[in-house]
Amino acid sequence: MTEFEVRNPATAAVIDTVHDHTAEEAAAQVDAAQAAFEQWRTVAPRKRAEILMAAHRGMLDDAERLRDIIVAENGKSQADAAAEVAYAAEFFRWYAEEAVRAPGEYGVAPAGGVRNVVTRHPVGVAVLITPWNFPAAMATRKIAPALAAGCTVLLKPASETPLTALAIAEILQQAGVPEGAVQVAASSSASKVVSAWLADDRVRKLSFTGSTGVGRRLLAQCAERVVNTSMELGGNAPFIVTADADVEAAVEGAMVAKFRNSGQACTAANRFYVHADVAEEFVAAFGRRIEQLQLGDPAAGAAIGPVIHARAAAEIRELIDGAVAQGARIAHQAALPEGEGLDHEAFVAPTLLADVPADADILGQEIFGPVAPVVVYTDEEDMLRRANDAEVGLSSYVYAGNLQHAMQIGEKLEAGMVGVNRGIVSDPSAPFGGVKQAGIGREGGSFGIEEFTEVQYLSVDWS
Ligand code: NAD
Repeated sequence: MTEFEVRNPATAAVIDTVHDHTAEEAAAQVDAAQAAFEQWRTVAPRKRAEILMAAHRGMLDDAERLRDIIVAENGKSQADAAAEVAYAAEFFRWYAEEAVRAPGEYGVAPAGGVRNVVTRHPVGVAVLITPWNFPAAMATRKIAPALAAGCTVLLKPASETPLTALAIAEILQQAGVPEGAVQVAASSSASKVVSAWLADDRVRKLSFTGSTGVGRRLLAQCAERVVNTSMELGGNAPFIVTADADVEAAVEGAMVAKFRNSGQACTAANRFYVHADVAEEFVAAFGRRIEQLQLGDPAAGAAIGPVIHARAAAEIRELIDGAVAQGARIAHQAALPEGEGLDHEAFVAPTLLADVPADADILGQEIFGPVAPVVVYTDEEDMLRRANDAEVGLSSYVYAGNLQHAMQIGEKLEAGMVGVNRGIVSDPSAPFGGVKQAGIGREGGSFGIEEFTEVQYLSVDWS
């Protein structure tokens, strides 16, 4: 039996080993998922809702253990991990409440003599693939609506963070989810397991969260069998501060939008566009906050941990160096942690880059780290053109003193989500997702469950 190691990003120490699923095992999981689907789809929505509600309670009862697992395998702070557990658990409650609302239509065909009866049905066995940056929330945001809709699921968590997914699967089992309805395949080789699943005709859905590059490859793979897909891909969020914005509030929002999870969020503010009238004040106040950030081992209570591994840290440092070579200036930086027992190579000093040229390379890609490049603007239309000049359009942020102005800017932004005078957009009751190459479909809200259903209509002779 082969296993692979899971490491703590803060120390590089091995924290556990997990079974490495083979392609054959993955193929066999589809048999169990299909058998469970035949049953689960017939379970009354109210009963499915009760099980999801029990899973919500189960996660909250186990919140501290889940927090510690996330801290250990992902390296985020305890506060960020606790917030993630609460957010992740909320998807079970939200979709427990949605499970019993299955809207349909009944209508008279225009020509008469026919009644159209429209209903929604579970799409079938669904493959779910999740990234390492929110190992609990990215899983529950998919599992909850899928189960609510009557689907069964095969989950492949990121190889860096399988332990959280395995713990959530246990909680679901204790909540009463039937055998086979939620199966996890931890694997050191994503494509091996996922290809085995996607090759099976009984798999009817892929819901993926991860990078745009991997998303593109999976879309091509799904085209082979025309598999229904939902894609939550990368971001490159602009964060706009207008001349009349409340600068203190904008800095508060920027801290959350930039430094949550050490900047490793698809919704992370990636480019700050600040009006010249408030730029100096914003940079000074934001910089002061950045310099105060305490880095270290999150298990020991540090506010900011490492990034996922030394390789990712090296890439982020290269982006900083590249920006400096193109004319940016390191205006403010937090101190790196000291002491023994840490994997120092995995830590990146939170950095504010000022005087960033509008065409600097760092603005054209997802930094996925604690680096805040600030660009000063004077002309709003020109700034908006640059804010929209990105392949992806996931989230955006705007701080403005006049709410109508903020909303007008929000509507001009090519983004699926806009934080208006707030630095966070994630909410289980709202449709999360992006435009352009940031993805297809939405998770959360009443939209999230639709992704796991097919529409059918009965055309009924009424003559
Ligand atoms: P990733 O694309 O490298 O990996 C995501 C998942 O896909 C992992 O489970 C990985 O094992 C799997 N995978 C990788 N190659 C695969 C293949 N060939 N076949 C099947 N599965 C494969 O992304 P990551 O580094 O884990 O996460 C960071 C990325 O995720 C960022 O780009 C971030 O913006 C994005 N993200 C998006 C959202 C969103 O909701 N839009 C949320 C979180 C993260």
